[in-house]
Amino acid sequence: MSTSDVINPATEDLLRKVEQTDEAGVDDAVARAKAAQKQWARLAPAERAAALRAFAAAVDAHVDELAELEVANSGHPIGNAKWEAGHVRDVLQYYSATPERLSGKQIPVAGGLDVTFNEPLGVVGVITPWNFPMTIASWGFAPALAAGNAVVLKPAEWTPLTTIRLGELAADAGLPAGLFQVLPGKGSVVGERFVTHPDVRKIVFTGSTEVGTRVMAGAAAQVKRVTLELGGKSANIVFDDCDLEKAAATAPYGVFDNAGQDCCARSRILVQRTVYDRFMELLEPAVKGVVVGDPRSEGTEMGPLVSKAHWNSVASFVPDDAPVAFRGDAPSGPGYWFPPTVLTPQRDDRTVREEIFGPVVVVLPFDDEADGIALANDTPYGLSGSIWTDNLSRALRVSRAVESGNLSVNSHSSVRYNTPFGGFKQSGLGRELGPDAPLSFTETKNVFYAIQEA
Ligand code: NAD
Repeated sequence: MSTSDVINPATEDLLRKVEQTDEAGVDDAVARAKAAQKQWARLAPAERAAALRAFAAAVDAHVDELAELEVANSGHPIGNAKWEAGHVRDVLQYYSATPERLSGKQIPVAGGLDVTFNEPLGVVGVITPWNFPMTIASWGFAPALAAGNAVVLKPAEWTPLTTIRLGELAADAGLPAGLFQVLPGKGSVVGERFVTHPDVRKIVFTGSTEVGTRVMAGAAAQVKRVTLELGGKSANIVFDDCDLEKAAATAPYGVFDNAGQDCCARSRILVQRTVYDRFMELLEPAVKGVVVGDPRSEGTEMGPLVSKAHWNSVASFVPDDAPVAFRGDAPSGPGYWFPPTVLTPQRDDRTVREEIFGPVVVVLPFDDEADGIALANDTPYGLSGSIWTDNLSRALRVSRAVESGNLSVNSHSSVRYNTPFGGFKQSGLGRELGPDAPLSFTETKNVFYAIQEA
């Protein structure tokens, strides 16, 4: 069996060699998952709920271990990594309530009783990216399991370690064998086989729009269900009537969190022209104040990029003649370090249109509300965004006009496990998290029971 090297991006040291699943391995796993799912769906709802709570408890007991593993594998600052592991526990805890609450409907009709059942799909394939390995995996596997499905999960090649560990913790917690299997390997092998395997009834894909498009096209051959969480180029719209100090102080954290490797990164800061100069004066010290360094240190706010290949991709957006306004610091020496970088390009520049997925932000001025909205929407993406204004009517108008799935007014929050998350336009299809996510792992079955005349 072939292996893949897993590298620590802060030190460039080899962490582990991970065995790569081949196509036959996927087929075996799907067969096991199919058998396990039938047993799982037959369990009493309270038993499935208890199993998910036990899995949540196992994650809770290993938050520090999972966090340290993510620091080593992905270079996430330790504070972020602990939050991520705790978030997985919370997602499991939240969806552990599902099995006992997944009720259908009773619909009034003539001549009988009409009821709907939320039937599980069967085996669900989850394909995750490298930027938030644990959290994104849990958004797929927790509601899928809760709705009575089995899950096969393929982590990204560069960052499989925490996901592998979650698979072990699920087994230790007593989840039935075969119900939740983590299959490390290549997208072109494991991911593609999920798409073509007839017994995988749904694909939850998070990653680039390019690969997501391909997954959707492949899934069409079997009318396979898909949820897609894809790229983003989100706007942080700063109006002249907002708390400008706060908008500038928080803007770096709206884009440089996880070194900008965040689908929700507010990577286009749009500033009303009347306050543009003042905003830039305030932004500079805020960007230079971002603490970039050893991800194991509690005070670190930004770690390295995930890999050398990704570093090269990010660096290509900042050539020597790039319109750099100012930059923050980054360590030298080993590790894929890239300093927080602020660009002031023209509106049609590549850096304004393409997802960079690194600590590079563009700042553009706009004239009035209509211009700001048009600029925010001038992208094929529509995942996230922020609006800074103290005018309530403007906040309402603009938040309804921006074509995006997740907006925050006067903050940069995007993800809560109890609210829906997903993209407009080419940022995706379907929604994860929130109260309705389990329904996207079910088929609605309608049954009419005729009543005989007395
Ligand atoms: P990617 O598309 O290269 O890979 C994502 C996953 O797909 C990986 O596991 C990869 O192995 C697999 N894959 C590759 N080729 C495949 C194929 N032919 N068939 C099936 N699977 C295949 O993305 P990435 O570089 O890992 O992640 C970065 C991207 O993910 C960015 O565009 C980012 O915006 C996006 N993302 C989106 C969200 C969201 O919720 N919308 C969240 C995180 C990341």
